[in-house]
Amino acid sequence: MHIRFQIALLFGTFCSVQSFIIKASYESSAENEGYLLKDDDFSVSTLLERANLNAGKGENEPLVMFGDIAVDTDLKNADPCTARGCLWPKAPDGNVYVPFRISSAYSARERNTIMQGLASFASSTCIRFVPLDRQEDFVDIQSLSGCFSFVGRRGQGQNVSLSRRGCVFTHIVQHELLHALGFDHEQTRSDRDQNVRILLENVMQGQESNFRRIRTNNLGTPYDYNSVMHYGRFAFSSNGQPTILPIPDENAVIGRASQMSTLDIRRVNLLYRCNSTIYDKEP
Ligand SMILES: [Zn+2]
Repeated sequence: MHIRFQIALLFGTFCSVQSFIIKASYESSAENEGYLLKDDDFSVSTLLERANLNAGKGENEPLVMFGDIAVDTDLKNADPCTARGCLWPKAPDGNVYVPFRISSAYSARERNTIMQGLASFASSTCIRFVPLDRQEDFVDIQSLSGCFSFVGRRGQGQNVSLSRRGCVFTHIVQHELLHALGFDHEQTRSDRDQNVRILLENVMQGQESNFRRIRTNNLGTPYDYNSVMHYGRFAFSSNGQPTILPIPDENAVIGRASQMSTLDIRRVNLLYRCNSTIYDKEP
């Protein structure tokens, strides 16, 4: 494949070390309104932040932006999805077969976790991840320098990076594959301002783009605090203060999904026009 990759320096080590110190001191302080940073330790965004300190810095790795989204540096702005359609094709039998290849770098246990993540789509949607067998387009699962994925089908082999250092968890696998299927982060939804307040004053310098808003197709589904695509309330915080607050109830739990939510599943089924009478059930 002839996609030109560039090396990006997005996650400065200095910045992250500094933020760790601030977080640590915040945790030991008394005032927290019932929410501690450590309660979010296993949230998608905390794991991504931790694992992605050096994301995209390796040789021949794509540019990683918006936390964990790989972007092609040949494209100046538009999401490639909008330009040419990025859904994976539907087979005559109604299923959507997404070929994959998993790097041999993983241990048996890690590989098993990844396989479970892949299989979870088959049990609730019409997405079928199938071992690569000469198909042209496929997801190439590798342990690169963090957890990241392109949004939607890119054509030919596309990296889904699940670093062995911090990304091999079922909900992270689901999160990155949902990107590959065409989904963005929940808090970037077009209607997010009715559901969360973004506190940019608490966001680490240079990380503001994580909180941009996109003209997403929400498929008629409600905003979902429990989506595996939703960041936690302290995501990319510079000072231990929240960066995302739910509204109107500031105390609502956000961004702690440990698996795809009912709405995540419903959205896959809607986007790919799966037979919803079979799949649109409570998990
Ligand atoms: Zn993501």
